[in-house]
Amino acid sequence: MTKNYDLVVIGGGPAGYAAALYGSAAGLKVAIVEENKIGGTCLHVGCIPAKELLETASVLRSVRQAKDFGIAISQDPVIDLSISQNRKQTIIDQLFAGLNSLLAGRDVTIYSGTGLLGANRKIEIQQNGETEIIQGTNVLLATGSTPRTIQGFEIDGKTVMTSDEFLSIEKTPNRVAVIGGGAIGCEFASLLNDLGSSVTLLESLDEILPGCDKDVSTAVRRSFVKKGIDIQTGVQVEGHEGDAEKTTVSWSDKGQQNQLEVDLVVIAVGRAPNGHAAGLNDTEVVVDEKGFIEVDEKLRTNEKGVWAAGDVVNTPQLAHVGFAEGILVVKEILGESPVSIDPSTVPWCIYCDPEVAFAGLTEESAKAAGYTVAISKHRYSGNGRAMIIGETEGLVKVIAEADESGKAGRILGVHMAGPLVTEQLGQAYLAVNLEATVDEVANHIQAHPTLSELFGETVMSLTGRSLHG
Ligand code: FAD
Repeated sequence: MTKNYDLVVIGGGPAGYAAALYGSAAGLKVAIVEENKIGGTCLHVGCIPAKELLETASVLRSVRQAKDFGIAISQDPVIDLSISQNRKQTIIDQLFAGLNSLLAGRDVTIYSGTGLLGANRKIEIQQNGETEIIQGTNVLLATGSTPRTIQGFEIDGKTVMTSDEFLSIEKTPNRVAVIGGGAIGCEFASLLNDLGSSVTLLESLDEILPGCDKDVSTAVRRSFVKKGIDIQTGVQVEGHEGDAEKTTVSWSDKGQQNQLEVDLVVIAVGRAPNGHAAGLNDTEVVVDEKGFIEVDEKLRTNEKGVWAAGDVVNTPQLAHVGFAEGILVVKEILGESPVSIDPSTVPWCIYCDPEVAFAGLTEESAKAAGYTVAISKHRYSGNGRAMIIGETEGLVKVIAEADESGKAGRILGVHMAGPLVTEQLGQAYLAVNLEATVDEVANHIQAHPTLSELFGETVMSLTGRSLHG
């Protein structure tokens, strides 16, 4: 007999497991189908491994800076990347075990295999030549995404890698070309530079970190250049030629041909949605030409009772957006009419050095949306805690809606680059999403001495009065 569930989730990444955990906590009978490992990209080849390696780079910077604090290090620090890789794997294994026991503890049935959705919300699960059919009253498609590649760059895992292979490197390469100056490309460029590689960052757009506020991308660019990262923007990468040891990358820059010999090329040009991964034969689910599953603002597909969430839908490809969407789908199933997610206000954190964090509209996008804006910027160079930790680069920028007299009101966006800004975004995110005004936020006390004081100070300036300038 076909087993029936209130909710069957296909794909066990952040979107899928969040829906499974939240749904089971709400009393639904849930099954999850995963063809690889529960945890998905985020846990195994994304957020967690990338941030662990970036933390190694951060510790290395601290050790190099130790002498400024009077701590003598008798020799230059030496990195054994295999130890960091083992540490990374231990963290992944712990989180993986925790996630599996959480799912088991909530009585979520885990099916190992490829889930293929057909008519009437029936899912065929295929593994090792065997098939089993289950059925869901509701089905969530959370099949995620895979790294994009570019023509002329075959992934060989030796001289050409995507994030999937790169996150397992055991040795620091001497010379690297990172193709793509988005969040992942900038994190990798920063990491490799800290580890001692000579890094060239190739980006086809005119600026790195597209989507970030211009002041933030400029701050990161300046800092990268100061650290010795060679940034080439507005370039067209054409191909490469080499062997298993080294290769020469070619690109054109406004008609001028360039070549560079490197030991490794890392392709970081975004992620392709796995829209077709769950079959979808005999269903009304629509996959667009880019591979995204089409959904409405409630994440409903065209097929009744079938939803989609996470990287496979055309919303920001972030783990926490996947969590939020998985939860939203469960609330929808329960008939709780949740508020839809506004993609323009989700939090973004990028863990390069300097870190980047933002929520809400940039100055450009606010103006393009027709707002009259009031803007305030404050730099970490004047912040006591930043001086204490020895990291004074970067800024906080707040964009607020202004009335005819120029008085600032609702906070539309907050953009940060600098020390530990990924841990300072929380209150800025709440301010944007609660549609708080600058007067409301400025009334709140910031603890002293903290890095977050800079956010408070930047907002206070928009009230027309400030303490420090
Ligand atoms: P995925 O995590 O891709 O999971 C989809 C799952 O579905 C996979 O496990 C896959 O095996 C399974 N699957 C697919 N098809 C089927 C099928 N037919 N049957 C069964 N199973 C199937 N995001 C952040 O928020 N913060 C970060 O710092 C961050 N850093 C990142 C760093 C890197 C290097 C990368 C690559 C990504 C990073 N991301 C980050 C993005 C984040 O990893 C993704 O947004 C997130 O994993 C998407 O979750 P998902 O559940 O939609 O899909």
